[in-house]
Amino acid sequence: MLTVPPDKIENAITTKIAYTEFPTNIIGYKTMIDEMVKLAKSRNGVGLSSIQIGIPFRLFVAYDFDNFVWKAFFNASYCPLGNSKTFAAMEGCLTYPTNQNYTLTRYDSVYVEWDELTAEDVLAHRVKRFFGKTAQVLQHEIDHCDGKTVKMIGKLMV
Ligand SMILES: [Zn+2]
Repeated sequence: MLTVPPDKIENAITTKIAYTEFPTNIIGYKTMIDEMVKLAKSRNGVGLSSIQIGIPFRLFVAYDFDNFVWKAFFNASYCPLGNSKTFAAMEGCLTYPTNQNYTLTRYDSVYVEWDELTAEDVLAHRVKRFFGKTAQVLQHEIDHCDGKTVKMIGKLMV
């Protein structure tokens, strides 16, 4: 059973997962993704980055509120859409105690690029616009991949 160890992720930058690792490591990644979703769900989370469990890959799982499914994102990055607006968000994080919430600024819409594991067990490059809650979760998780946590970029609510 995976756990979220404390103090694993401050400033940690993750590395991209190479296409050449597939399909040799496919079972390992699938198992890890399943375990990460289980762990996030068990903690009432809506996302979890592999760096949070001490694995420095650019990989996370997140709940897609638009399609009501959990998805795994490899090598993801984001940027705001041209007409994005920012808003004051409130977020917790599985790395920190459940009673700690942070306020920070998020974009209401983002353009995300990532690699997705297909049914044919290959990584396929994807680009998509995300809005609302899903956009917020993806910004949170991609920030983890870039070594940024809500504790660093937000303000603890008291
Ligand atoms: Zn987090």
